[in-house]
Formats: sequence, structure tokens, C-alpha cells
Amino acid sequence: MVVGEIPVSADLIVVGGGPGGYTAALRAAELGRDVVLVDRDGTDGVGGVCLHVGCIPSKALIEVAQHMHLSTALSAAGVPAGAERLDMRRWQQWKGDVVDGLTNGVRQLLRHAGVSVISGQARLSRPDQLVVHDPLRPLAPAQYFQFTDLVVATGSRPAALACLPFDGVRILDSTGVLALDHVPASIAVVGAGYIGLELGTALAKLGAQVVIIEQAARVLPGMDEAFARPVQRRLAELGVEVLLGATVLGDDGAAVRVATGSGERVLTVDLVLVAAGRTPNTDDLGLEMAGIALDARGLVPVAADRRASAHIAAIGDIVAGPALAHKASAEAVVAVEALCGRPAAFTPTAIPLVVFSDPEIASAGWSLADARSVGIDAARASVPLAASGRAATMGQRVGTVEIVWDRDGETVIGLHIVGPHASELIAEGVLAIEMAATLDDLADTIHAHPTLAELLGDAARRARSAR
Ligand code: FAD
Repeated sequence: MVVGEIPVSADLIVVGGGPGGYTAALRAAELGRDVVLVDRDGTDGVGGVCLHVGCIPSKALIEVAQHMHLSTALSAAGVPAGAERLDMRRWQQWKGDVVDGLTNGVRQLLRHAGVSVISGQARLSRPDQLVVHDPLRPLAPAQYFQFTDLVVATGSRPAALACLPFDGVRILDSTGVLALDHVPASIAVVGAGYIGLELGTALAKLGAQVVIIEQAARVLPGMDEAFARPVQRRLAELGVEVLLGATVLGDDGAAVRVATGSGERVLTVDLVLVAAGRTPNTDDLGLEMAGIALDARGLVPVAADRRASAHIAAIGDIVAGPALAHKASAEAVVAVEALCGRPAAFTPTAIPLVVFSDPEIASAGWSLADARSVGIDAARASVPLAASGRAATMGQRVGTVEIVWDRDGETVIGLHIVGPHASELIAEGVLAIEMAATLDDLADTIHAHPTLAELLGDAARRARSAR
């Protein structure tokens, strides 16, 4: 130990204040642990990427974009056309209020639970010791903590492309786009994963000319192909050009050069959004001090109980699995319980995947192909959104509800929804899968009329009649 390196004892430390970190801190406090939460942005950082620059701000943009778009889409119903352009400055204020309100809520929960939140960048200095530097106060001495248990929940950041380095002015990441004070006249979106699609679609609805560039042969390359088709059709209706099988070559400050199957394209655009994946924040954590080696993608290998070693757990975007807020918070509970000596394992039956595209996509459990590939005697049935009276009153016709079931026992093992409010409807499917509901359970549940949820009962009845 060097002079000045006198550690303070800490019972359980959580590094990172995102949905994984704050949930871990709250659960640990509930279980009687003395908890310190360290975030490099201090109390301003609680809520993490999700609350400040991810889930919440992006959905706040998508919501207003959809309202503006619907006023045009429902003109046949006599709805007057909306404003020409969104006042992004006012939207920024409104979004800021939404984020501040939610952040305050998390801060209050942590305060009431007795969690100490400290500001600083943490890394391991020894197998059981953390050093914390406050980047906002570079001259302040570092703090050292000797911990009994540690939960690492440092999240992820946008992945950079060598040919399009972020400059915060023209070449932006999702955070930069969500901080804009104007709707750009034109924007190239590099990457048709869920973040690129969600933001690209919202900007198109707000009046921007959007071109999406994707290396794969379709949008949403990580998801079932059936989901991509309605989304691609909708993008075309919105006037979004989608270049598939296309590789970005570079940008000269006014135009992006793209190699496509039919030759090179030069796209003159005002802004570029690079949404080409996320990189886990694990490179400067010093985990090797505790004998923990990262995998090839920079993720922390963990056991089912999310422990990477006897006293160190890792959760959220820095471990394998979908990089989603609800997965991070579910893992948090498991990790803390394991560190508290309780039997715990992260073995979810279904993690819902939602894309807030147009139409929305929500998926949980097995797809037919995946189920059959592991020997499950699976079958599927689907009903179109056009069968829903409620959808008709919303002026929406595009979508389906598909149910996948195991013929052995007739249990529901998958639900895949395309259409308005798919993000909300999927909850019933997740519950059905989690509880091993049968087709009868879902088919005989009385759904309110007229609602989109009736389609879940319809799909189950259709499945039942096909058995
Ligand atoms: P994070 O939320 O990333 O939090 C990590 C925290 O750790 C940060 O506050 C950071 O400051 C801090 N930190 C990092 N390193 C250190 C260090 N060394 N020392 C101290 N502090 C540190 N997910 C969904 O489920 N639904 C959505 O609709 C959705 N939309 C998204 C939209 C966008 C535009 C983006 C970018 C993401 C979206 N996500 C969504 C993903 C979601 O935000 C993440 O999966 C989630 O935030 C991960 O939580 P986490 O706790 O692992 O880490």
C-alpha cells in the first residue's frame, strides 16, 4: 500500500447508477446491506443511459413524432393537419422536465433506502479494493474503498466507426441526436438496428429527409425476418430511403460516401447518426486485478447468478444477453441476492424485446424455428391486426399477433406482435409464458372490447382450433 492509499471499509459497492446499478443498490439496502453507489456523474448520473440519453428521451421523441404524424395520417377522418415542424427547443425543455422528474424519483428512492451516492470514476486497484477519481475535480485526492462485495453495472457507450469518427457537430451518436435543438432537413442514419430505426423513423415523421444505411440485407438484422418486412414497407411510405447491403466509406463534411451493390453513392446530408452498436464500458475497470478476464467482445463472463468471482458480480450491458434496461434490473436482483448468500440464478423464461419502430414490434419467448431447432414440437397461429375493431378506429391496419405453442401440453411458449402498442400488449404474453399458460388459459380469458388485447385471445382460439 502506498502512502495516501488508506481505504474506507464498505460493505457492498455498486459501480454505475443505471437501471442495473440503482436496482442493485435498492435491493441490497432492502436486504440490510450498507450500500455505496458510485457513478462518474454522481447523483446526476442516477438513471444511467436509459433515463438520461436512452429509453426515456428516445421514447419522448417517438411519442411527439407519432402525434404529429397521426394528425396527417388521420386527415381522412377530418383531423386538421398538425404544425409543420416540431419546436425542438420546447421539446428539449419538456424532455428535460420528464428526465429530471424521473431522476429525482430514483434519487429519492436511494436516499430513503440509505444508499450513499458518490461521484467518481471507479476501477479496481486490488482484488477487493476500488479507487475512485472524480473527473469533475481532478485535483481532489482519490478515494479508496475496501469492499466486501461489489456489483459492476457500468453499461455501454455508442460504438464508433473508424471511417466516421464522432465529432459532436455533424457526425453524431444517439445522445447527440437526442440533444438537437432543431429537426435537421436531412440525416443519414448508419445502422438499421433498433436505435437507428427508432430515431430515423421519428425524425422522418418530424419532417427530416432520412436515408438509412445498413450493411446487412435487411433492417433489424438481429431479429426474425418477418418483423423486418412491415417496418421496411412503412419506411418507404414515410419517404425514408433504405440502402441495404451498403457500407459507409467516409464523410467529407457535406456528403457521406457509401458503397452499394450497384456502385458508390454520395449522399449530401446535414447530419449523420452513427448507430452501429454499443461497446461495453469495461475497458478501464481493472477487473484483471481480481483475476476476471473479459471475453472477445469486452463483456464480463458471469455465472448464472451473475457473479464473476466470489464477491464480484456484473450485470446489464456489460454481460451477455440483450442490452436492455429491464434485463439489467432483473439481473441486479439476482446478483445482489447471490452476494447476500441467497440461492439465485438469472434464468428468465422470456425477456421481452421491443422495438418502438412503426409499426411497433414486440417479441417474447420462442420463435417457431428456434423452438423446432431444439426439438420442441412447436406450432404457431396468427391473426392480422385488420381483424381488430379497435385497430380500425385507430386508423391502423398493419400488424399481426402470432402465438407459438408447444403441442405437448399446449403451453404458450412464444408471442410475437407487430402493430400499435405492441410494447404494451407483450406484457400479457410474457406473463402467459412465465406462468406456462395453456392455449385454453389465453383463449378463455375475457378481454375487454374493443381493445387490441382481444387479438391475443383470438390468436389463442385460432391456435386451439388448429390443434
Ligand atoms: P447504464 O444505463 O449504461 O448505466 C451505467 C452507468 O455507469 C452510467 O451512469 C455511467 O455514468 C456509469 N459508469 C460507467 N463507467 C463507470 C465507472 N468506471 N465508474 C463509475 N461510474 C461509471 N433499453 C430498453 O430496455 N428499452 C428501450 O426502449 C431502450 N431504448 C434505448 C434507446 C437508446 C437511444 C439507447 C442508447 C439505449 C436504449 N436502451 C433501451 C438500452 C438501455 O438504455 C440500456 O440497456 C440500459 O441503460 C443498461 O443499463 P445498465 O445499468 O447496464 O447501464
